[in-house]
Amino acid sequence: MGSSLQRFQSVLRLGGSARDIMKTKLVYASRCLREEYKRTLSSLFDAFGSVNTLLHDGCRVLVKPNVNFPTRERGVNTNPAIIESLIQLLMDSGVDEVAVGEGSGIESDTSRIFKAAGYDEIAEKTGVRLIDFDSSEKVKLDVPNGLALKDLEIPKPLLDYDVLVNVPVEKTSICTTVTLCLKNLMGTLSKRYKVKAHLSGLSQAIVDIHKAVKPELNILDATVGMEGFGPISGTPKRTNWILMSRSAVELDSTVAKLMGIEPSDIEHLKLASEQGLGTIDASEIGLSGIDLSKDSSRFAVPSSTPNVPKGVYLSLGETCRNCICPYNVAIFRIDKDQRLPDLKGLEILIGKNAKPSGKRARTLAIGNCCKPIQDKVDCYVPGCPPPGILIGDSIKVLCGIEKEPTRYMRIWYELMKQIAS
Ligand code: SF4
Repeated sequence: MGSSLQRFQSVLRLGGSARDIMKTKLVYASRCLREEYKRTLSSLFDAFGSVNTLLHDGCRVLVKPNVNFPTRERGVNTNPAIIESLIQLLMDSGVDEVAVGEGSGIESDTSRIFKAAGYDEIAEKTGVRLIDFDSSEKVKLDVPNGLALKDLEIPKPLLDYDVLVNVPVEKTSICTTVTLCLKNLMGTLSKRYKVKAHLSGLSQAIVDIHKAVKPELNILDATVGMEGFGPISGTPKRTNWILMSRSAVELDSTVAKLMGIEPSDIEHLKLASEQGLGTIDASEIGLSGIDLSKDSSRFAVPSSTPNVPKGVYLSLGETCRNCICPYNVAIFRIDKDQRLPDLKGLEILIGKNAKPSGKRARTLAIGNCCKPIQDKVDCYVPGCPPPGILIGDSIKVLCGIEKEPTRYMRIWYELMKQIAS
């Protein structure tokens, strides 16, 4: 099944309009109620043209979920029950092998996170292999027309499998507004290239990854997502959808709209469409099974209004939300620990042309835009943007809340050294 007539019938069956068949960019969606993951995925594959559209005899499939935190709390990682249902469907269709692979954050132990998040259990039940990308052999891959990243360092299994299926969960993100299909591919980079991506301009780096690593299929877990200070400190939000598309860009822009966010306000999506990786223009994307005007449910996005605690002086140059939001979450976490009084006398500088006042006891500059003043401040945190954890830990060390550089800081700067050498 794959002809336009069959696709036309599928679109109509899932509730799309006849006009949608004229559009070549298709996103399929299905409500997922009562945890009927296998039935929902199966109906999406039917609309898509059956699971066999993607697969061939002897095919080996690598599934890439988003598994970054050691928890089973809903909305944080891709729901393991969805991955289990997907594995069963793939196996029923006669593929040779299915594996699940992930490389979590720069300080994370992916194998431990797999276990804590419930992935070990699904591997045991289904017999699939779990691949910790961090302990896999690495290979270099050129990025055609790469702007921030000219090459990637990725785990070799990514090249060994025939089909890559990308299965993120729907979340907001302090560094990139949302983390969906495109951002999920950051998990395919080695730890030092994750740091390199932040240093080289994260939004463009995300686009560059997609120029070299292209999933054959994207499935988005929008059953329970996360809003607010995602991807770690946000609030779970239930929306009960699963969506599927060949195109990560078109699926992400559809889901952004579903979350009440304009795709053109998301830097990496805008760049991806400008660089020809897909469209973010809703009028060009054929939807089946969903009506965005009725089904959207607004997600709270991380606030881009800077939070300035009492006693702190904030010097803003020309800045953007991608630096302000991680700064805000760093302050939010320090506030949660009731250590805000320790920040008294601190000056924080963010953005191009920010200038130290020369009147404060301690100065901290955040982001690549502040590189020209790095020698004029007590602490400079590089990155475009730097991760919120790095900003928070740097503030804590500068203000004496932490006596020594934290584990995260030590790993980050060691990886930075490796990139430079
Ligand atoms: S370093 Fe500059 S451009 Fe990059 S996120 Fe920060 S303010 Fe924006």
